[in-house]
Amino acid sequence: MSKDYDPQMHTAEHILNRTMVSMFGCGRSFSSHLNPGKSKCDYHFPRPLSDAEAQEVERRVNEQISRHMPVSEEMMPRSAAAALVDVSRLPAGVAPDAQIRIVRVGDYDICACIGAHVKNTSEIGRFRLVSHDFTPDADGGGILRIRFKAS
Ligand SMILES: [Zn+2]
Repeated sequence: MSKDYDPQMHTAEHILNRTMVSMFGCGRSFSSHLNPGKSKCDYHFPRPLSDAEAQEVERRVNEQISRHMPVSEEMMPRSAAAALVDVSRLPAGVAPDAQIRIVRVGDYDICACIGAHVKNTSEIGRFRLVSHDFTPDADGGGILRIRFKAS
């Protein structure tokens, strides 16, 4: 992936994930693919998103980006990180005293992440939620896919 867009897209992904969690109580995206023009995040979700909800997600993400928040990274032991973030998806072999990188987007989001980020949300540009679709699965839930751009 190009260095030109990936930190922006990826930091926007953090803000999108936190916005989805706080608006709908779902989990963070379980799968994401960041590419120029067709970045996407998949969520376990119970139903389709309405267009009004999609617009509200876009509005909230841009509201947070426009706060020009610093993005910081901090190494800490897994045992300490567990008090701050969900570490359940980290590899099981990670020792309790292993160092984990915690990434904060201002006061808005915190998670464990090894990706590349911008230093400030002012570098992200404008977030656009391009499309969303829903694929039901057999157990009554489904997968919500959100496609977005940040530039
Ligand atoms: Zn990250």
